[in-house]
Amino acid sequence: MKIMVAIKRVVDYAVKIRVKPDKTGVETTNVKMSMNPFCEIALEEAIRVRESGRAAEVIIVSMGPQQCVDTLRTGLAMGADRGIHVETRETLFPLSVAKLLKALIDVEKPELLIMGKQAIDDDFNQTGQMVAGLLNWPQGTFASKVVLDKEKQAVTVDREVDGGLETLCLDLPAVITTDLRLNQPRYATLPNIMKAKSKVIKKYTPDELSVQIKSDLEIVQVTEPPKRKAGVLVSSVDELIDKLKNEAHVV
Ligand code: AMP
Repeated sequence: MKIMVAIKRVVDYAVKIRVKPDKTGVETTNVKMSMNPFCEIALEEAIRVRESGRAAEVIIVSMGPQQCVDTLRTGLAMGADRGIHVETRETLFPLSVAKLLKALIDVEKPELLIMGKQAIDDDFNQTGQMVAGLLNWPQGTFASKVVLDKEKQAVTVDREVDGGLETLCLDLPAVITTDLRLNQPRYATLPNIMKAKSKVIKKYTPDELSVQIKSDLEIVQVTEPPKRKAGVLVSSVDELIDKLKNEAHVV
């Protein structure tokens, strides 16, 4: 059984985001980029399933410019078996990514697609749901526990929902998107970083997959959040209550 994992290259979560002066997006030149944290969790889960003997191969996929290869190398060093890079300089919105994933799934025929619940750059939280729709596969989104049953050709997914845990059983093939508490991703060890250099990364263009990158969406502008006003020191609890009542509209 093959597992496919979609990994996105994003601005590192620890970087302070700067908006471009022309407000067309955020600055990415000379900025540290990393694997989207939810994608790291997806990859960790896939590797654990393979290590438990319930899958034979983990294939990672990334779409975007040439530098995505660095992200794929990180994933190969974590333990993925091989990589696929769909190279494009076009801006990719979720529907295009979902169409490209579907095209790759038609070629590779994995039984499980694991991906992040959202990419921390655009916060769309749409790609998993869209690709499940395009493939007509069942989806377990925001997974906090995944148990694969190879005999029954099914996967059980726990989801943290308002007020408790929801447990779903999905027939394979299926799409899973990962939540933060699913696992703690491993660090790549030095020997595995060396081994990753010789693992295969296959390249495609969107044309070779017969996918046209076009979007009905347009980013109108990107702006920084308004600056917060400085606080004031009050001299007594009475003054605080007075301010809360009269200035903060607390009743
Ligand atoms: P989003 O719907 O954009 O929030 O992204 C959800 C998930 O879709 C990510 O965590 C990735 O697993 C996958 N994804 C989105 N964009 C890409 C991309 N360019 N390359 C690979 N995977 C992606």
